[in-house]
Amino acid sequence: LKVVFHERYCEPYGWDPAAAPERIESILREIEGDFEFVTPRPATLRELRLAHTRAHIESVRHLSPRIFEAARLAVGGAIKASEIAIRGEPAFALVRPPGHHAGRKSCWDFCFFNNIAVAVEGLRRSGSVGRVLIVDIDYHYGDGTADIFAEAPDVVYHHVAANTRREFLKKLARCLEASKYDLLAVSAGFDAHREDWGSPLETEDYEEIGRLISIFAGERCGGRRFAVLEGGYNTRVLGKCVKSFLHGFAGP
Ligand SMILES: [Zn+2]
Repeated sequence: LKVVFHERYCEPYGWDPAAAPERIESILREIEGDFEFVTPRPATLRELRLAHTRAHIESVRHLSPRIFEAARLAVGGAIKASEIAIRGEPAFALVRPPGHHAGRKSCWDFCFFNNIAVAVEGLRRSGSVGRVLIVDIDYHYGDGTADIFAEAPDVVYHHVAANTRREFLKKLARCLEASKYDLLAVSAGFDAHREDWGSPLETEDYEEIGRLISIFAGERCGGRRFAVLEGGYNTRVLGKCVKSFLHGFAGP
């Protein structure tokens, strides 16, 4: 498994909870040394246009140069992870800001551009993949991702949400049951942890989630899978959750 990371992901760009550099730092502390790291480039305007209107891109640019550059580099991280995945190796984009609340024309809640959507669209337009499954394990529904793929029958978006640990794993297993895909992409948020937004998961559940996804990708997607960081705000547990997830997601 490769981790896509840029040192600028730790630079400040804003004041919302997702912008806290400590989030990335807490993850680095846990996973550095466990996996090989690779460096991305910022997404181009042309790439951003795969999932966003010109007007939306300009509106983010006008928020602040800092936000615009940070958001472009986060998309670049997801693109890089998707390119690694397509070659058959799992990858995790350790990026900030997150993206799943960014739709085609607008964004909210700490997101600016939809990292995972731009990456998936890039592979689809180049003909590298046809059918894609996006699984979102963040506490929050990825309305932006759902919006962007609303009219794309070949891209299936699933948000997993539940009130108990058992139910969460059951629902995840159910959405992995379906058909064959060319690629599996994961919106990997960690705010469904018991000590984060107060939802049911424990740290070790993330390893099981990663494992289930990795097995499914092996059986149904030719092993092609990548994950992109979304939410997760309690820096006392975030790094451990990511580590747990990646050890499952990397496969046996
Ligand atoms: Zn969230």
